[in-house]
Amino acid sequence: MSDERISEKVKNVQSSAIRELLKHSKMEGVISLGGGIPNPDLFDREGLQMAMDKVLSVSWKDAFQYGLSEGSPDLREAICQLLKQRLITCHPDDVVITSGSQQSLDMLARVLINPGDVIVVERPTYLAALQVFHLAEAQLASVGTDGEGMKVDELEELVKTTTIKAVYIVPTFGNPGGVTLSDERRKKLVELSKRYNFVIIEDDPYSEINFTDKLFKPLTAWAKEIDNSENVIYTSTFSKILAPGARVGWVVAPEWIKKQIVTLKQATDLHTSSLSQSLAYHYLQTGRLPDQLKIIRASYKDKCQVLCEEIERELGEHLTFHRPQGGMFLWAKFKYQKNTTDWLKKTLANGVVYVPGEFFYADNPDASTLRMSYVSVADENLRKAVARLKASLE
Ligand code: PMP
Repeated sequence: MSDERISEKVKNVQSSAIRELLKHSKMEGVISLGGGIPNPDLFDREGLQMAMDKVLSVSWKDAFQYGLSEGSPDLREAICQLLKQRLITCHPDDVVITSGSQQSLDMLARVLINPGDVIVVERPTYLAALQVFHLAEAQLASVGTDGEGMKVDELEELVKTTTIKAVYIVPTFGNPGGVTLSDERRKKLVELSKRYNFVIIEDDPYSEINFTDKLFKPLTAWAKEIDNSENVIYTSTFSKILAPGARVGWVVAPEWIKKQIVTLKQATDLHTSSLSQSLAYHYLQTGRLPDQLKIIRASYKDKCQVLCEEIERELGEHLTFHRPQGGMFLWAKFKYQKNTTDWLKKTLANGVVYVPGEFFYADNPDASTLRMSYVSVADENLRKAVARLKASLE
């Protein structure tokens, strides 16, 4: 029962159902495919140590002092360099450092959304983005996805009849869907945003976790090509490539949004931790990131392959899925009606948990879906997990 003194707005935001469900996943002997967190065994401890030594020996005065609300100029410059490899050209003045992408999303929602504004999300979409948009009192609409990401044709039908404020999308190696928007759809989405004048929030935490040789051009880069940069906002983070505990992310936004974000940032937390920013900056200066990324990609790719092959072999008659080209998640769907929230009780009893898919929908949840994360599970346990899932069907 909630206290009547709590504001209506906050009262109505659902606490993450996943946390509740996964309380049991730490139980002895349970294999968890549930968590959405990077593998801590792959954190570059040596590199972080080198960076921290620099923080304490060279930058300690700045690192322990207040800083600019938009973030450290050195780090913003370094981020622009990093983004060149992702085919994004930007100026440090276009960048605001945030306390992780989650804060970027929260601030963007507060900057853009009046109660009742329509925000379009993918079906399924990132759960904590749903929380943010609910808090901002947006009206949510959803568009389906398939193996090529968001069905942009479906979006086109929607925007013909409905005025929307923004589309929120994780176009590359999405969470939870694991799918990647095709180039054709990327181009079309950006064109639609220009024609119908809506904003695109491109959330990109995973594009560096790429299992292929192909570079997926961000929507932000497409926008530059067709002169629609005023409508496209990019957010990314060090969480999946360096360390989520550092809480450092960033937004690249056109001036009309950027200046509001800086104002909001002052009111929210003044600025992102100077210590964390300094750590991220000095880490980038070590030059170790490219090799570190190779290690993460190779490990996650192998694990993804093990899980996919095992599911195909053992559960192929029950489940369908699109093989991820990168990222941290495998999204699967039963070929017949099956409520995966109910099924979780049985699989837990058999020693394996996943996240039921129904929580990742703004509307019309498909209860026969599930999300599995492979990145922190030993190969041996991935095989065991699939065997236990299979046993739970009997
Ligand atoms: N967006 C997506 C799609 C995510 O999966 C996550 C992390 N789970 C975030 C944003 C938040 O990341 P950060 O740690 O940078 O706040």
